[in-house]
Amino acid sequence: MTTVFIISAPSGSGKSTLVSRLLAKDPGLMFSISYTTRKPRGAEVDGKDYRFVTREAFEAMIANNEFLEWAQVFGNYYGTHRGILEDARRQSRDLVLDIDVQGARQLKCQIPEAVTVFILAPSRQILEARLRARDEDREEVIQRRLRDAAEEIRNYEAYDYVLINRDLDRSDAVMSAIVSAERVRRTRIEDQIRPILETFEKKR
Ligand code: 5GP
Repeated sequence: MTTVFIISAPSGSGKSTLVSRLLAKDPGLMFSISYTTRKPRGAEVDGKDYRFVTREAFEAMIANNEFLEWAQVFGNYYGTHRGILEDARRQSRDLVLDIDVQGARQLKCQIPEAVTVFILAPSRQILEARLRARDEDREEVIQRRLRDAAEEIRNYEAYDYVLINRDLDRSDAVMSAIVSAERVRRTRIEDQIRPILETFEKKR
C-alpha cells in the first residue's frame, strides 16, 4: 500500500534539504517529480527535479485531465501527473510530494489518508536571514518571498503535522519519525496483520 506524504513550506524553510535527506536514506520512498512551466534554475535537471514543459503542453495536459492536482505559483504552472501515483503503487513505494498549499488542499480531498506536513521556520527574522544567506535572490524577490510566506503560513491548520525547523539534524530525525510512525498505522497494515492472526487461529 502506497502512503502519500505531502510536504509544504515557504521557500527558505529548509524543505528541499529535508526532503532530499529523507529520500537519500529511504529507498522505500519515491519523489514525485512535478511538471512545471517555469524555467530550470541553476543545476536543476529535467526529469530529476522537474519535468520542464511549455505553457501550451501544460494546458493540453490539463485539458486531458492528466493531473492529480495542479496550481499556478508565482505565475507558473505546477502539477502532479496521475501516472506518478500509479508508478509508486506498482513499485510498492511511498510517495513524497513537495507541493504548495493549493495543491496540498486538492490532493487531500482526493486522497484523505494522505499525510500532510508543513515546515515552518522559527520566526520571520530567521526566515529572512536564511533567504539572505542563500544569496540566490535579489532584494525584491526576498521581499516577495517573505510576503508569500506570511500568506502560506496561514494555511498551517490544514496540515496533520507542523515541523518547526530550528535545527536541520533534529528536523531530519523528526521527518523520518513521521514516516516510520505513519507506516505502522493500523489501517495501513491490515493486510500484514491478518495473516499473523491466521497463524494463531490454526493453533487452536
Ligand atoms: P520552485 O519554483 O521554488 O521550485 O517551487 C515553487 C512552489 O511550487 C513550491 O512551494 C513548491 O512546493 C510548489 N510546487 C512544486 N511542484 C508542485 C506541484 O506539482 N503542484 C503544486 N501545487 N505545487 C508545486
